[in-house]
Amino acid sequence: SEVLVRVENIKKHFAGTRKFFSREREIVKAVDGLTFDIIQGETLSLVGESGCGKSTTGRVLLKLLEPTEGSIHFDDQEITHLNENELRPYRKEMQMVFQDPYASLNPRMKVKEIIEEPLIVHGIDAATRKKRVNELLETVGLNTYHGNRYPHEFSGGQRQRIGIARALAVNPRLIIADEPVSALDVSIQAQILNLLKDLQEEYELTYLFISHDLSVVEHVSDRVAVMYLGKIVELGSKTQIFENPLHPYTKALLSAVPIANPRLKRERIVLKGDIPNPANPPSGCAFHTRCPFATERCKVEEPKYESYGDQHFAACHFVEELA
Ligand code: SF4
Ligand code: MG
Repeated sequence: SEVLVRVENIKKHFAGTRKFFSREREIVKAVDGLTFDIIQGETLSLVGESGCGKSTTGRVLLKLLEPTEGSIHFDDQEITHLNENELRPYRKEMQMVFQDPYASLNPRMKVKEIIEEPLIVHGIDAATRKKRVNELLETVGLNTYHGNRYPHEFSGGQRQRIGIARALAVNPRLIIADEPVSALDVSIQAQILNLLKDLQEEYELTYLFISHDLSVVEHVSDRVAVMYLGKIVELGSKTQIFENPLHPYTKALLSAVPIANPRLKRERIVLKGDIPNPANPPSGCAFHTRCPFATERCKVEEPKYESYGDQHFAACHFVEELA
């Protein structure tokens, strides 16, 4: 298995609001030291509640945001500090599919113009573009005549197909899909997820799939990384995460998901309280304010992110005790 993206200790800190009685601003540690690989051809999911840093992570990987610290390698090349010009070849390789296709599609452009735009940006000639746009419409399950219509003439699911066609236009290798089905009716979600799966097979795509919805994640992932307050608290294969979760936060997220396999007994953990302010995260284990197993140690000592068997990682002091 070949690594396509390698992320080492990336951080993204933002200046927040001013502190009381101080000239200093709060620092919001939206992403606070992530290390992971994305393997060629896999779907790696990033899951967690909203505000945990998933979308920021996606934007940092695409170099839409500068990381505060750390490094990003794409296909063995470090891209962390490349300028826009040097990034141009990589921009083609990495595309994004957004949650709300309507907001990301220009309402004044015809669908064929929307799909064509990235081809123009990358200097493809007019005849090739026209042919490619028609191919792409068919690839995502639309018809050629749909190209002459405007985004508002389509349903949510069809608009997401248009967004996917646009992302595919320049033949990317990596697609970062940020909540690509959460704005859609449940009945439409499966269609779009299946389309993404088919496209992955056909074009050997690699996905970073960002979602708060574990039942969607279970459907699409090869591996899953669980985030809490800007950090990965657990990472493993889909089977490891869904059948043998190690971290109390993962167990809590799973408690809320209906169980497809009734033979699997799942511990029920109900989360207390809300997600804390990332500008002022709790000491020690940042999850201690909501964890039913928290001890005094958890309040003062940050747990190490460690391996518990074959490529299965977690950050909790009591993994073994809680097993
Ligand atoms: Fe809970 Fe403590 Fe483990 Fe954190 S380190 S997840 S607070 S038991
Ligand atoms: Mg988000």
